[in-house]
Order: sequence, then structure tokens, then C-alpha cells
Amino acid sequence: MKNYLLVLIAVLMLGCQYGEKEIILEKKRIVVAHRGASGYLPEHTIPAKAMAYAMKPDFLEQDLVLSKDGIPMVIHDIYLEDVTDVTEMFPRRKRADGRYYVIDFTYTELQLLSVHERVNLQQKEAAFKGRFPVNSAIFRLHSLEEELQLIQGLNISTGQDVGIYPEIKNPAFHLKEGQDISEIVLEILSDFGYVTKEDNCMLQCFDAIELKKIRQEMGCQLHLTQLVEELLSESQIKEIATYADAIGPWYKQLLLEKDAHGNWIVDPLVERANAHNLQVIAYTFRADDLTADESFEDLLDLAFKTLDFDGVFTDFPDKVVKYLE
Ligand code: CA
Repeated sequence: MKNYLLVLIAVLMLGCQYGEKEIILEKKRIVVAHRGASGYLPEHTIPAKAMAYAMKPDFLEQDLVLSKDGIPMVIHDIYLEDVTDVTEMFPRRKRADGRYYVIDFTYTELQLLSVHERVNLQQKEAAFKGRFPVNSAIFRLHSLEEELQLIQGLNISTGQDVGIYPEIKNPAFHLKEGQDISEIVLEILSDFGYVTKEDNCMLQCFDAIELKKIRQEMGCQLHLTQLVEELLSESQIKEIATYADAIGPWYKQLLLEKDAHGNWIVDPLVERANAHNLQVIAYTFRADDLTADESFEDLLDLAFKTLDFDGVFTDFPDKVVKYLE
């Protein structure tokens, strides 16, 4: 009888564990290496991408800004001085607003810059304390084509199939400067075999007018992610569903308030979006950006169990991949 009870307890405990796992496995969760393994190496450098690749995320992210000669460079901002030594290399090339623009430099000139860990320009110190030392200057900028060669080469040599998650940055700014960034990026993606939803690519943009144009006027057949900066109404979600496949919100915006037990009450975006066949892949999960009473695992519980995201962008892909395993 005693043994029978023990077995019963063991089975019940296993059942609970299995049940909990099932919550996580219900949908395939996507891990996007945000600017590469940017928690460990300067963002958007080839070493940061190679390291991220080895962590087995589903996608590597590329932020794209055009050079003066129309080459998509992998860099987060339209400016250079937060992550390079441009002020020392080309002190006279700033505009009247005091800033150095990627689009004012040719690809060859951009190759002369050293890339370092992101700095906060006001305080002139590392944006994220405890990451790779800022004073190291062994990194370089690279183009979209160079990064695609790296990823496709690794896909061949490792036998894995890691996808790409390119972001078209500030298309309106590019147009004002006389360049159509979407047209140039789509052509390169097509050259590298990223054409339909079968190909391992999700294209993202904050500019809704541009993303809609990419689908409806340019006839792009890739997976499209509409990045958003605000909470969405039901009708806005419906509208996005007419041209996109996923929404990319800032997760902190979905945290409305805490209930009496200290649990977050969250915006129902995921349920609403999923009902319209839109995935929700939220940004950005950082193991070094936590509140005092929170662990990274708590934050990922919040992401996958409470908010139920289909995927996350993270500076620490190794930690999220391990959590999901
Ligand atoms: Ca991005």
C-alpha cells in the first residue's frame, strides 16, 4: 500500500512537471540573436555574429543602413559615433547637427573605422556596464552581403539552418537622401536566395507605410514583421495582418500594472495577434537589464508563460536557448 502511494505521488509529480513543460512546448518559440551575441561582443561585428551562430538561435539579426555608395551596412543607427572612432578618423566629416552619418561615407571609408562596444555619448562611457571593454579597437563594420556569406557558409559547414532577420532602418531618411533602401536590400536578399516564406528570413521594419509598400507594391513574398512602439488596438492588429506575418513589440509596454499578489497584468496583444495569424516576437531581453528582485529566468518566465510570446530578441541567445531546452 505504501509503495502504491509512493508510485502514485511520483506519477503525479511527473505529470505536473510534464504539464509545466507542455506550456512551453505548445508553440515553437523563436530565439533571435539581437545584433548578434551583443551581450558578449560589440554589436553587429562579425565576431558577435559568429559567436551568436554557435549558440544555435533560430535567427541572427541585421540592422541595415546604406553607405554613400548604396551598400547596406550592418549597423544599428544612421549615425556612426556611438560605436566607432569616426570622430578621430574623420573629424571634419560631421554635419551641421554635429553628427556623423553612415550615408556620408563610402564603403571603403567605413572599412577604415574601428568598431567598439556601444557608448553613451552624453556620459562618454559604456552603455552597458560589464560588457566587452570599450577601449578595444579590433573590430570592423561589414556589409549585409558579407554577413550573409558568413551565415550561409556556417549553414553549410555546420549543417544547421540558422535564419536571418534583417531590419530596414529609417526608409524615410534614406529616401530624403536620395536612396531607396528597401529596393536595394530586397535585391540582395533575392540574390542570396531569400525570396519566399519557405526561405529562412524574416524582414522587419518600424515604418508601417514602408512595410505595407514592400508587401503590396514591391510584391515581396518574405515573412514580414511589423515592429511597433506603442500598444495596438484590435483594428490596428487587423490592419497589420493584411500585409505582415508578425508583430515586434517592446515587451515592457505590455506590462500594464501589478495585481495585489505582485503579478503583472498584461496587455492581451499575443492572444489578439495570434487570432489574426500574426506571431508576436518581442524585443529586447537582456540578462544585464533586470530589476533588483528579478532573475533572467523570471524575466523569461514572464515572456513565455505570462505574455506567451512566440519569440524574443535577446542580447544573450545562449541563455534563452538553454532556458527553452
Ligand atoms: Ca533591430
